[in-house]
Amino acid sequence: AAKEAGGNCLRRYQSLTHSSWLDNIQLDAEMRKALEQQEFVLYYQPKIDMRTRRIVAMEALLRWVRGDGKSIPPSRFITLAEQTGFIVNLGEFAMREACRQMMEWRARGLQDVKVSVNVSIKQFLHANMLEQVQQTLSAVDMPPSLLDIEITESVLMQNQRDLVSILKHLLKLGVDISIDDFGTGYSSFGYLREFMPSSIKIDQSFIHRMKDDWREQAIVSTLVQMAHNLHLNVVAEGVETEEQLEILQTLGCDVLQGFYFSPPVSSERMNRMLLEEGYID
Ligand code: C2E
Ligand code: MG
Ligand code: MG
Ligand code: MG
Repeated sequence: AAKEAGGNCLRRYQSLTHSSWLDNIQLDAEMRKALEQQEFVLYYQPKIDMRTRRIVAMEALLRWVRGDGKSIPPSRFITLAEQTGFIVNLGEFAMREACRQMMEWRARGLQDVKVSVNVSIKQFLHANMLEQVQQTLSAVDMPPSLLDIEITESVLMQNQRDLVSILKHLLKLGVDISIDDFGTGYSSFGYLREFMPSSIKIDQSFIHRMKDDWREQAIVSTLVQMAHNLHLNVVAEGVETEEQLEILQTLGCDVLQGFYFSPPVSSERMNRMLLEEGYID
């Protein structure tokens, strides 16, 4: 019966088993307070240029450490926030803070590095997303070309006219759009007819299985070639080993991200790394 009813039914089943309805209500209330009490912070994970081995972007990733010291993983609170709509508030915070941080780094000498912010569909479809982005940028005097918005591929499958039009506007503004978790879900590439993103990020599940499975490698190779034929930049996420790096180099991947280089780290730790490696003074 669950199969017949489609995705909705399955999702409801999962949320009931993983965490009860009551747990969710409680966590949602906590989340709202947590934002006010500044329990949410951004961590940053660098993206590295394959050829120069320099940092080309920082991806901002939300972290929630509660007053009691326990941290709640994004897989838990982002999913819930997407269900309750609170993601609009959280996302606004993330965008503002990421841009502020980037301008602080630039003031200290960081050059040619973009900041990547994950944006969920709920945020996109929320009224005046475009104005919000423009306001956020102008509030800190940030050129649009320094902002890269990551949107997961599954979202584009929903074929939302509004969404495509917003994405086009953002591109026109000069903001980069990256397709996150590329290759997962129900890729149809159909949306590529309607708008061209700046990059695709090949999902980490492919990267992790590449070494032991020639078919995974063939898929990655095909994705890289397809992207290059379309003049898109290719990012590999979840790079953990030297071997994966070598394979990706052979396949011609442009940008790398993963634990091999750095896990997501706090802004304080990132400051130290940037200082040590001569990116900032
Ligand atoms: P994502 O955007 O695809 O981010 C990649 C995830 O993989 C991150 O998990 C990151 O910590 C993890 N990761 C990075 N390198 C490696 C690696 O080498 N190996 C492995 N095993 N994992 C790696 P995280 O931080 O738990 O975030 C999970 C997801 O939560 C993100 O997936 C993104 O979809 C969502 N998320 C995080 N922050 C935000 C946000 O500010 N807004 C929105 N809408 N979503 C966010
Ligand atoms: Mg991402
Ligand atoms: Mg991803
Ligand atoms: Mg993901």
